[in-house]
Amino acid sequence: MFPEKGLDENEVLAELERKTQRDLTFDSGKILGSMCTYPHPFARKIVAGYIDRNLGDPGLHLGSREIEREVIQMLGSLLHLKRAHGNIVSGGTEANILAVRAFRNIADVENPELILPESAHFSFLKASEMLKVKLVWAELKEDYSVDVKDVEAKITDNTIGIVGIAGTTGLGVVDDIPALSDLAMDYGLPLHVDAAFGGFVIPFAKTLGYELPDFDFRLRGVQSVTIDPHKMGMVPIPAGGILFRKKMFLEAISVPAPYLAGGKVWQATITGTRPGANALAVWGMIKHLGFEGYREIVKEAMELSRWFADELKRMPGVYLIREPVLNIVSFGTQGLERVEEELKNRGWGISAHRGYIRIVMMPHVRKAHLEEFLRDLREIL
Ligand code: PLP
Repeated sequence: MFPEKGLDENEVLAELERKTQRDLTFDSGKILGSMCTYPHPFARKIVAGYIDRNLGDPGLHLGSREIEREVIQMLGSLLHLKRAHGNIVSGGTEANILAVRAFRNIADVENPELILPESAHFSFLKASEMLKVKLVWAELKEDYSVDVKDVEAKITDNTIGIVGIAGTTGLGVVDDIPALSDLAMDYGLPLHVDAAFGGFVIPFAKTLGYELPDFDFRLRGVQSVTIDPHKMGMVPIPAGGILFRKKMFLEAISVPAPYLAGGKVWQATITGTRPGANALAVWGMIKHLGFEGYREIVKEAMELSRWFADELKRMPGVYLIREPVLNIVSFGTQGLERVEEELKNRGWGISAHRGYIRIVMMPHVRKAHLEEFLRDLREIL
């Protein structure tokens, strides 16, 4: 009901506090199955300070618009692209939809089809429905990466593009992006890399000595990349990223927004009014942490994942789905549904989908939390 009279702020806050009691918080250490984390205090500070900036009307906020451009270039340089075109958007979903939209608009075929791995995120289902693009699923190999031969077999005259994943949602698997890139080049198709999760992990993990394939614009077939600062970038939600190699992709999805303060403004995002503060926070966090800071965060997360996977391997009744690739460890148990239910009853924020439990070693996850989790799991089993 819409209240007739307003309440005192303290009363409202007290009610809010009561009503959100059941929410899990990242600092409780109980959230083990999320790709989000507590926002870095510095990012929080920036968001609070610039909460009113609207990148949907950049003529009003010229400084913020410039910062978004700068941050796109910073992300471009992380992903080996000299001149990047893109936006900070609401998340991986919007970024993936924009890539499909660009591919579809450029291809201009009557019955567009997109080839993507069976492991792809469900955001592509939304893209498919909204953009009337048929999804053609490519099979996975035993290691859960996409079977590039099957991708090739599924190319037709209707294919508008190919998707590869650098850090799958369920297992953190990185597809053979170099092979997909070659394939895309051979057939003159654009390749989109969904690195929503892996984009803020792989570049750092590679310099730590983890053997991971190239996945970015270094590969000539890669035309667009999704990279989400609100996952391992530690920026408050919402902050996703879409980067294109060429301006023509952005132009293919731009519409004129004539009544805005900047005069002749073009918008290439799905959202109109959109938070400038979060884009500023991405910029600020990258400046503040630098490559070294992020590498340190990734180092801890990767080491913790290996330790946790070893602990699971020693536990009777538990099996790893596969060796961890990034900072995600997924495992199965006998009677998985019952185990999931019991873990949830004990307050753990996990989910068992696709037949396994996925633990994501986000920056808020500490060894002590995992030890407690393992104790609970052992007891339940
Ligand atoms: N792509 C991948 C690989 C993901 O794992 C996710 C989310 O988990 C997304 C896209 C969608 O991102 P968002 O939830 O920010 O829209």
